[in-house]
Amino acid sequence: MARLGPDFARQFNEHLRRHHPEMCRHWFDDIEPLDLEGGTVRMLVREPVQLRYLQRCCTRQFTEAVQAVTGRLLAIRFVGPQDEFTASPEPGEPSTEGLPRLDEQMLLSPDYTFDNFVVGPGNRLAHAAAMAVAGRPGRAYNPFFVHGGVGLGKTHLLQAITQSILRADRTARICYISCGTFTDAFHDSVRAGRMTEFRDRFRNVDVLVIDDIHFLSKREQTQEEFFHTFNALYQAGRQMVLSSDAAPQDIPDLEERLTSRFNCGLVARVDRPCFETRVSILRNKAQMLNLPVPDDVPAYIAARIDSNIRELEGALAKVRGLAHAMGCPITLELAKTALAADSGLGRAVGQPNLQIIVDAVTKFYDVRLTDLLSKRRHKSIALPRQVCMWLARRHTRFSLEEIGGYFGGRDHTTVMHAIRTIDARRQSDHRFNGEVERLDSDLSTNPAPADVESRTT
Ligand code: ADP
Ligand code: MG
Repeated sequence: MARLGPDFARQFNEHLRRHHPEMCRHWFDDIEPLDLEGGTVRMLVREPVQLRYLQRCCTRQFTEAVQAVTGRLLAIRFVGPQDEFTASPEPGEPSTEGLPRLDEQMLLSPDYTFDNFVVGPGNRLAHAAAMAVAGRPGRAYNPFFVHGGVGLGKTHLLQAITQSILRADRTARICYISCGTFTDAFHDSVRAGRMTEFRDRFRNVDVLVIDDIHFLSKREQTQEEFFHTFNALYQAGRQMVLSSDAAPQDIPDLEERLTSRFNCGLVARVDRPCFETRVSILRNKAQMLNLPVPDDVPAYIAARIDSNIRELEGALAKVRGLAHAMGCPITLELAKTALAADSGLGRAVGQPNLQIIVDAVTKFYDVRLTDLLSKRRHKSIALPRQVCMWLARRHTRFSLEEIGGYFGGRDHTTVMHAIRTIDARRQSDHRFNGEVERLDSDLSTNPAPADVESRTT
């Protein structure tokens, strides 16, 4: 068995940051490379939720990184503190020791904790209630029902409660599930004649957390079953936490007896965040992603986007994507470019934007937008993508870097190469030249009308 030195850890982390920046989190620093044994590198992860998350979502990227850094065909295995001194099981077999009794289907995001939840006027009550519930499950408010618009932190709060309870009591039996999964599980159990198992699963828990409970709307049978689940848990003093896009009485086609049950604990609404909260959230996200951002960038993004927090994150991701594609640090200028390009403002008036170019090319070559913007290199996609780049260079004011960034995070040399390839092929391939010229002239004669553009942005 070989120990792994600090050099390995450093190179490994650098590789992950460079090649999978979107996946990296600040808590990755706590992952400890343990040893190399029988072709497997073992990595110690102390937090059960992080361990489960890494096993399920990050194995491929970690394996690739370990192979790149060592130049050897190695496997990777994440282990918990309990496994640290025990021999490896068969490769590929997930280790479960040291985990609290997490429901097999439960996947929690280590990002969604109270530590990472920014409190502001829009969510202060919901947050305070969530903390109280997490601190005294079953005794503070039961049920705790949180509702509000999309992207305002309901799922985050539910998972924060779940993780906080698990951390305080590793033996707590807790089930976090989406309403959709609950409904599917119910129908599967009915079909398979396994209702006893279903009831065991959901009625023998200390805490039941169901996300997006408004999906019960119109589902009469599931409502009926859930009503009994609710009563069983309630009578046993077990905590229930529910989220919804509407207040209990505003969920359409929900049985009255459920509405009244939902209202009998604490109902809290989350509202859209104010400017200051949006700025703090962006700072927090940047920190979580190990992303150095100057102070004016969160303020700039927060001033432009006030709809919901998922949109804020999307904007930050665009800025990060452009910085990564261009290989430069994040600055206010760069943020402006990234967000302007996105809204079509980066083009000159009366000229087609990237969207219109992409529309024309996808239609002409019958390829999908997602393929054009992906990393796929198959000829059937590479050529249309190169045509897009060639047209983008002729019809927009975007730089080579920006064009490359838009088409799947490629760098400016790829765009230069694309332009040369298209020019060369136009010389040698008469038919191809005709196709490109037609696309080119269609774009010149049908530029995007400026008013249509501004209405959609
Ligand atoms: P919802 O379930 O209400 O649609 P989510 O909980 O999925 O919304 O939140 C969307 C994104 O916004 C998540 O990435 C979440 O971490 C983030 N988010 C929401 N509210 C906050 C907050 N108060 N502080 C930090 N991040 C937040
Ligand atoms: Mg949600």
